[in-house]
Amino acid sequence: MEYETIVGLEVHAELNTKTKIYCNCKNAFGLEVNTQICPICTGMPGTLPTLNEKVVEYAVKMGHATNCSINNVCKQDRKNYFYPDLPKAYQISQADIPLCEHGYVDIMLNGEEKRIGITRIHIEEDAGKMLHNDAFQGSLVDFNRCGVPLIEIVSEPDMRSSAEAKAYLDTLKSILQYIDISDCKMEQGSIRCDVNVSVRPKGSTEFGKRVEMKNVNSFSGAMRAIDYESNRQIEALERGEEINQETRRWDDAKGQNFLLRSKEDAQDYRYFPEPDLGTIYVPKERVEELKKQIPELPNAKIKRYVKELGLSQTDAELIAENLPRCRLFDECVKLGGCSAKNVSNWVLADVSKYMNETGKDIAETNLTAEKLVKIISLIESEKISNNSGKIIFEEIVNGGDDIDKIIEDKGLAQISDDSAIEKIVNDVLAANQKSVDDYRGGKTNALGFLVGQCMKASKGQANPAKCKELVLKYLNG
Ligand code: ADP
Ligand code: MG
Ligand code: ZN
Repeated sequence: MEYETIVGLEVHAELNTKTKIYCNCKNAFGLEVNTQICPICTGMPGTLPTLNEKVVEYAVKMGHATNCSINNVCKQDRKNYFYPDLPKAYQISQADIPLCEHGYVDIMLNGEEKRIGITRIHIEEDAGKMLHNDAFQGSLVDFNRCGVPLIEIVSEPDMRSSAEAKAYLDTLKSILQYIDISDCKMEQGSIRCDVNVSVRPKGSTEFGKRVEMKNVNSFSGAMRAIDYESNRQIEALERGEEINQETRRWDDAKGQNFLLRSKEDAQDYRYFPEPDLGTIYVPKERVEELKKQIPELPNAKIKRYVKELGLSQTDAELIAENLPRCRLFDECVKLGGCSAKNVSNWVLADVSKYMNETGKDIAETNLTAEKLVKIISLIESEKISNNSGKIIFEEIVNGGDDIDKIIEDKGLAQISDDSAIEKIVNDVLAANQKSVDDYRGGKTNALGFLVGQCMKASKGQANPAKCKELVLKYLNG
């Protein structure tokens, strides 16, 4: 029998607000343990939370960016459970009325677009972090992360493969980056996801029982977890077993998952409205203002690059997926004066190579859109060679500033003037009569040698295409 895999994702994204969701503690990663805490985020009795307005605004922005409707009036609820990293023994979240719901994002996979439904986006607080230290018999807790604001983005069970899930995660990540509400640093856990998987016989319209996997720490890990779980379920069904709705822990190092608990239901959490916080009210006008702050999103950008600028789908995606790259590209195109295709080539080759090799952002160097456009247009107008362009680029990212001066100092100006090149060619041919005879005698590879000699005579400054053209004219003439 053939089976179909069904995937739904719950993505948690930490928001990059300055302070935490219910207190004034700093929202920062990597600081000394238990230094960014106060009586509120450590859940001391008698303390009262105050909602950080920015958290609501950031979540509304994500709602807009994912085509959700925004609930102007909503509330927060307590989700009760015990775990040592949760000092209050409840998490403030949103239960029946989330801030945003009924949205979608479009993902691209192998050149095809697919729409994935967003069930809801709600705000909640993060828990602390358990530290397991071998030197210490037991576990330690760092409360710095308690009260770090999160949004949970719940998808519809609309994905049908690990590849679709990966495309969906990539899409969410680039949206979060574009609207600048999360650091999106996977290695720091700023995006985490729970992966829900079920399988069903192909053609069936009913869903099978789903298994939820926790502890998925990377997008590639999510793919591995989905493929593993889908196979596990198919094998179980083939053996005539039933699938139980349960929660399993993904172990990426082992490439396996393990049963954590049979699935808890919402009622197990004894949700009730948070009595210490009032109703959240976001006026319609504010919702509209926030909508205006949403920039052109990656999907729209990719379509525009392909349609209006003539880039290939792959190049368009590569540029749009990286924000610093994309900003530089957009700025260059806006300045104009050279072809978008050439800007794309430069951004994807030399600029990306520099960023990858040094780990630096272009904004940290002297290279600006103006300078890059100047380099490219000098090449396009044949004032410098492509190679000289690369030399100038190197100089600029390594602290150089004045392109004209670099060209002069390094003698990079390209000779495209016909009469100047003609003189070089005549001199070279006169001095290499044997090669001229060779070529005329049928040894065509003498041509490369002669053009090379011309380039050498011009100290690399002659336009190679022009040189070749004039040499050929002479040899054949
Ligand atoms: P819970 O809090 O119990 O995890 P949520 O409503 O937050 O429930 O999330 C449920 C997730 O499971 C959603 O992402 C949804 O798309 C996914 N899901 C629901 N049914 C299935 C199914 N049959 N197969 C795969 N995923 C499913
Ligand atoms: Mg869940
Ligand atoms: Zn605090």
